[in-house]
This record gives sequence, C-alpha cells and structure tokens, in this order.
Amino acid sequence: MTTTLDRPASSPPPAVGRLVDQFEKGLDAPICLTWELTYACNLSCVHCLSSSGKRDPRELDTAQCKAIIDELQRMQVFYVNIGGGEPTVRPDFWELVDYATSHQVGVKFSTNGLKIDKAVAQRLAASDYVDVQISLDGATAEVNDAVRGPGSFDMAIKALQNLADAGFADAKISVVVTRHNVSQLDEFKALADNFGATLRITRLRPSGRGADVWDDLHPLPGQQRELYDWLVANGEGVLTGDSFFHLAAFAEPGSGGLPGLNLCGAGRVVCLIDPIGDVYACPFAIHENFLAGNIQSDGGFQTIWQQSELFLELREPQNAGACTKCAHFDACRGGCMAAKFFTGLPLAGPDPECVQGFGEALLAGERTAPTANKDHSRGVPLTLMTRPPSRDCDENPLAGFAPV
Ligand code: SF4
Ligand code: SF4
Repeated sequence: MTTTLDRPASSPPPAVGRLVDQFEKGLDAPICLTWELTYACNLSCVHCLSSSGKRDPRELDTAQCKAIIDELQRMQVFYVNIGGGEPTVRPDFWELVDYATSHQVGVKFSTNGLKIDKAVAQRLAASDYVDVQISLDGATAEVNDAVRGPGSFDMAIKALQNLADAGFADAKISVVVTRHNVSQLDEFKALADNFGATLRITRLRPSGRGADVWDDLHPLPGQQRELYDWLVANGEGVLTGDSFFHLAAFAEPGSGGLPGLNLCGAGRVVCLIDPIGDVYACPFAIHENFLAGNIQSDGGFQTIWQQSELFLELREPQNAGACTKCAHFDACRGGCMAAKFFTGLPLAGPDPECVQGFGEALLAGERTAPTANKDHSRGVPLTLMTRPPSRDCDENPLAGFAPV
C-alpha cells in the first residue's frame, strides 16, 4: 500500500500541477493518518517517538475504536497506519484490523514482530487489505539490538521469515536511519530483497525518548550527504515516507533534488490519533503545543480534522524566518517542524540538520528543548549500553569504551 507520503524515493513526483499547494491548504481528510492503538510495548527502544512501554489506563476500548473506524469510513480515509507501542499486544487487535478492512479502511501496521508467528503470517497473507511493516534499526543484531534491545533482531527476522514462508507479498522493513546504521543501507536493501520485502527508511526525530538520544544517534553531517547520495543512486523501490526532504537542499537549486512531498504535512495531510483519542498534528509531535483535540470530548475526528483551531492555523502560510532567504528554500522549506521544536530551535528558521550547516550553529547556541508531556516508559528505558562497533570516524574518542 503506497501513498503520496510513501513512494519509492526515485519514483517521479506526483502529477502535481500544484498538488503541493492543495496539500498546503489541507485536505478534507488526511492522506497519512497514524493511529497508535496502545502505548504498551514489549520493547523499550531508546529512540521510541511515543515513549512507549506501559499501557495508558484510559486507552480507548474496542467499541470506541470501532466508532472511529466508522468515522474514517464516512470520511473516505482509505487506509490507516497503525502503530504504538506494539499494537499487536492489544487483545482486540485482529478484531479491529478485520473491522477496518471490512469497512473499506485498509490497514498498514507497524510491529516489532512479536506476534507474527506462522499462523498469523498465513492469516495476513490471505488478506489484500493489510500491509505489515517490521521495524529493524540495524542490519546486524549488534547494531539493531543496541537500540531496540536484546533479541529484537532475531524476533524481527523470524517474523519476516514467517511472512515470506506464508507467501505474504511485499512486507516492509522499516528502518530509522541513525549514525550507526547509515553505513548499512546496502545490507538493509539486500535483507529486504532476500525476504521479497520492500525497504522503508525514515528520519530519526528527537521526539519522545528520541530526544534523549538524538545527539548520540542522529547522522553526522558527512553521513547526511552519504544518505542523500545513496538515495539518489539506490532510491528506486525504497520508501522514505517523504521524511528526508531537508536533504533535498544538497541538490543544486532548480535541479530537482529528491522527489516527494517537500513540505511539512503536519495538520495538513498528516496527523496522529493516540491511544486515548487525542489528535496531534503529526506522529512526531506528541506535545500539548500540537494537540488539536480529543475524539471523545471534542466532537469526533472529522470535526477536529476540519475545524480545530490548531489545524486551521497550520494550514495558513507559515513564517519560515531566515530560510526564505536561502537558495534552497523551495527544495527544503526549512525542514521538519517536530525536529526544530524538540531540539529547542525556533520553528521559523532552519532545521537542526540543515545541510547548509545553519542548524549546527543554532544547536551550539542557547536553547531550551521542551520536555515531553507524555511518557509511558517502563521505568528506566534501555540505554545504549551495548555500543555499536566504534569506527575511526566516530567523533567521540571514548566511543565503544565509555558507558553512556
Ligand atoms: S513535523 Fe516533521 S515529521 Fe511531522 S509532518 Fe512535519 S516535516 Fe513531517
Ligand atoms: S537554511 Fe533553511 S531552507 Fe536553507 S537548507 Fe537550511 S533548513 Fe533548508
């Protein structure tokens, strides 16, 4: 299931006319709706964008979830990205998936692989309306498990094998690109090819627990270039969720750069429903500043999407500050709102990973990063105690020796 926000990196841009102008003003229904069904998770990944771990006692029940699906069907939302937490730990998960697909709402769900045994894989292979995305943040157990926890690599590979054995067509391997796995992109691609799967790579944002490890994990400036070059050379058949548009500024102005939506879609074409029915502008912006309303108490999803003050405001032209003077503005548009917000940078200005170097200068200055207003971590989250192999190019002279 491929959307405008999740097309192969080298596929041509949508026949836009000025589709981007329509996106900027917002659509009647989101084209990229993420629904986190639960904050409960068996893992404690260091960079979890929703700080998941424990179930929220106010989690929506089965009937409430079905009512949301009914509303999505009425709004003609054709598919929903389901995540968490680990969504498959909800006892009613499969019931909700079946309910959605039988109501013309296709499902793409993200999982660490926990429940994808042989029987489940066969059941999934029998459906045309369910897509599965297995999270993997290292092409080797050593690199993956340092971020996602011991045993998580083997669990994900087992799930991929079960899906392949069951004949499930085109599973996705979803990778958050970090400083430690950016050199493994070819290996990820080979792994995906080996399972008949598609590689999906996305940007590490400093959201949730990701804020605590972003300084250690986000790709270094040279690696940003490496990533851009890899996407240009190998992007065909690789999905990106349009999350690397800040890298488009590497291209010569006017030369095109990376295809895809080069616009922050928050509240315009993208949003998040969280496990208690709170609606946020973007999955990476779980903070009260980006909370548009609650489905249970504010008149339902459609009302929030179409009428909330926050979303109407986000659909107005945004102040891009100094970025408007940049020769690369048309390609990069100042980058990601969430990345700026959670690193304490002004929203009207450059992205923290601005490829022209302006973000680094700002990061070195005075700033106050906001604290997350929701944390569902189970006690002490996994820390990077098991360091991925250090390399000569690692900027920290103690890398590999000092516990973090
Ligand atoms: S805040 Fe960032 S991740 Fe969210 S829609 Fe905007 S650019 Fe994408
Ligand atoms: S200055 Fe702004 S528009 Fe220019 S490359 Fe950096 S983030 Fe993008």
